Amino acid sequence: MKIVDILNSKKVSLSFEVFPPKKQEALESIKKTAVELTSLNPDFISVTYGAGGTTQSYTTEIASEIEKNGTTALAHLTCVRSTKEALTYIINGLKEKNIKNVLALRGDYPKDAVEGENIFPSGFVHASDLVSLLKKEGFCVGGACYPEGHPESSSRDADIDNLKHKVEAGVDFLTTQMFFDNDMLYSFLYRLQSSGIHVPVLAGIMPITNSNQVTRMVDLSNAYIPRKLLAICDRFRNSPEAMMQAGIAYATDQIIDLISNGVRGIHIYTMNKPEIAKAIIANVNEIIKATNE
Ligand code: FAD
Repeated sequence: MKIVDILNSKKVSLSFEVFPPKKQEALESIKKTAVELTSLNPDFISVTYGAGGTTQSYTTEIASEIEKNGTTALAHLTCVRSTKEALTYIINGLKEKNIKNVLALRGDYPKDAVEGENIFPSGFVHASDLVSLLKKEGFCVGGACYPEGHPESSSRDADIDNLKHKVEAGVDFLTTQMFFDNDMLYSFLYRLQSSGIHVPVLAGIMPITNSNQVTRMVDLSNAYIPRKLLAICDRFRNSPEAMMQAGIAYATDQIIDLISNGVRGIHIYTMNKPEIAKAIIANVNEIIKATNE
């Protein structure tokens, strides 16, 4: 099913993200994780794409496994370090497996890029270029957005101006980078509306369940960490089970606030840990059910 049709039919959607393994040996276990997540009845599950890495074909394989288990899959795809032929190969593979939804991304600049290297051999230098291609191929296409601004952007407003190109290229929905302060999202949504961007926006929630994760997540996303979350990480740094419980409670609190304020899509970065997704769903399933009635 196309995700745009799911989003149009619900007051609030719930989805998960998984990532493929780096090594072939772990592929079966990640497929099992994805299947376990389908049993929680999400509206869809997305599978990330290892830009320039070794896991690119695994994305299609895991997405296909999700579809076989009756849940809609969203396959991520990036254009960094990819030729047009390589992109066509992946796109044909997705079509063969009947995957109808793709999250079109540029990908990060590779850290090991050498001077003079053409890191966009396909000629696609922005995600919007990939969006146009995927729309022509008949996919339902999502894109990424950044409530606190993309790290390369000169300002949040400049980032929204650039986001407009992606929307004009035809994205059906946007998924946000993780954020830990809901006010960041509300302010972003307001600015999107003012800029004439009206496609559905799914809020990306990253449960912080071990304290070291915070440093990694800030490096990855530049997200602002509220005092309340910092205090949780400081207090429970050496108590893994307490940290897990507090992190789940924090993510739950974020989700309840988002739904109460009218946000229509919640996308949980599961980090391939179904037990965390299960615990959060147990906390919010009645809320989501009641909202969709
Ligand atoms: P773009 O939309 O191309 O934006 C990148 C930068 O270019 C921004 O600063 C933007 O403002 C600017 N820009 C965009 N269009 C223009 C234009 N026309 N003119 C001038 N400037 C422009 N990475 C992976 O490798 N694999 C994944 O599976 C993956 N999944 C992700 C899922 C989500 C929900 C998010 C939020 C990110 C994900 N990423 C993933 C990370 C992503 O690839 C990086 O954040 C990357 O740096 C930017 O990708 P993008 O698609 O947002 O790029």
